[in-house]
Amino acid sequence: MKCPICKVGSTREGLTTANVNIKKYILICKDVPALICNHCGEKYFTNEITKQLHDITQETLSNIIDEEVDKIWEKKGLNQEKLEMVLNTHINRE
Ligand SMILES: [Zn+2]
Repeated sequence: MKCPICKVGSTREGLTTANVNIKKYILICKDVPALICNHCGEKYFTNEITKQLHDITQETLSNIIDEEVDKIWEKKGLNQEKLEMVLNTHINRE
């Protein structure tokens, strides 16, 4: 199809990387089938792929991620409050 964004290129089937938001995290999914514009590089995901990404990430991974991150934070003696302090410090420096 003709790319709706740049209106110059046309899309080809290919594999790309998709960033999916899960709560406050971003999951990077590799090799996701998509239509990719050969001019501007814009990626288009079919409804089916979008639904699959959603199902896998939101319904399957969100609980696991919460548990795993809690464990890691516990090990490092971190909590939400400390992390926010670290992040604020970092932002203030810029
Ligand atoms: Zn384009």
